[in-house]
Amino acid sequence: MAASLFLGTLVAAAWVGAGCATRPGLSWQRYEFERPQMGLPFRIVLYATDGQVATNAAEAAWKRIAELNSILSDYEEQSELSRLSRTAGSGRSVAIGPDLWRVLIRSEEMARASGGAFDVTVGPLVQLWRRARRQRVLPEPDRITAARAAVGWRRVELRPRTRSVRLVAPGMRLDLGGIAKGYALDEAFAVLRHQGVARALVSGGGDMVVGEAPPGERGWKVAVAPLDAPGAPPARTVWLRWASLCTSGDLFQHVEIGGVRYSHIIDPRTGVGLTDHSLVTVIARRGITADALATAASVLGPVAGIRLVERTPRAEALVVRSVESAGKLQFEMAETRGFRGWELRR
Ligand code: ADP
Ligand code: MG
Repeated sequence: MAASLFLGTLVAAAWVGAGCATRPGLSWQRYEFERPQMGLPFRIVLYATDGQVATNAAEAAWKRIAELNSILSDYEEQSELSRLSRTAGSGRSVAIGPDLWRVLIRSEEMARASGGAFDVTVGPLVQLWRRARRQRVLPEPDRITAARAAVGWRRVELRPRTRSVRLVAPGMRLDLGGIAKGYALDEAFAVLRHQGVARALVSGGGDMVVGEAPPGERGWKVAVAPLDAPGAPPARTVWLRWASLCTSGDLFQHVEIGGVRYSHIIDPRTGVGLTDHSLVTVIARRGITADALATAASVLGPVAGIRLVERTPRAEALVVRSVESAGKLQFEMAETRGFRGWELRR
């Protein structure tokens, strides 16, 4: 998963609260925890009436995220994902655990819904472009062609009866960098809730999952910065409850070669890193959906991207794209019909 920093989105977060009594003698306290996870800064903010409950809940959530990283990471050689990738082309079908299964099922749904724009089999291309970033040299066209031969979401065979997977083509390599963080945030929140903590926010590198609002508040106040560029439209403020907000864009992860900026998000249809500059913010019920949709909409662009999100139940999106015209930076914005609903009191 992407060992990246994506802090631009959460520009200002005003956390108000504490001291709002529900039962006599009990008052809410705000607790905040921070820890690097999945190569990124993660944060838990929660309200509890007891410090021990808060600490135990956060500890259990961290454990769950670390566990998921050891299963879903493509950086770790021994993760379940890496072991699965190594069976590509062997003809074998491999039984996998419930977490990897859930993420692969959702990945397939997203691939189908997005017409292949979201595709976790982009691993070989991601590898090529990671090297391009390090060496600042574009991948050679024949290497892109070779990598593309090992890419394609239809080449992942999911067998529900045995909960097993077969990677059909040799050289295939799965990369869950566009979806695993969203799932990890969902699961971390589920752990908090299980421990009796529902007024909580879990965030990782700008993406987040929140539950019940802070005491006395209408939601978790989050400022969505459209683009970190001069002349960009102002930030918008949303009030989140029982939702996830994820962003995707090329602002922090890209390489510039020959005057062209290539994103870490790859268009599976061409094998090339995206060259248009956009920031996509998706709000959905679950992190796994918001994360994948944000990546998919980045690939699809504002029109088809917004259409995809409109088709997804309970999901909204805001897309800002910067376009250079006559030497001037201009901004195009698009949003789903319901995005504004999150800015208003719910
Ligand atoms: P961020 O890393 O900033 O959270 P994303 O959620 O959009 O951004 O994820 C980008 C990551 O997704 C890439 O680093 C790569 O691991 C993976 N990826 C790249 N292109 C695609 C694609 N077309 N479909 C699915 N995953 C992709
Ligand atoms: Mg994503």
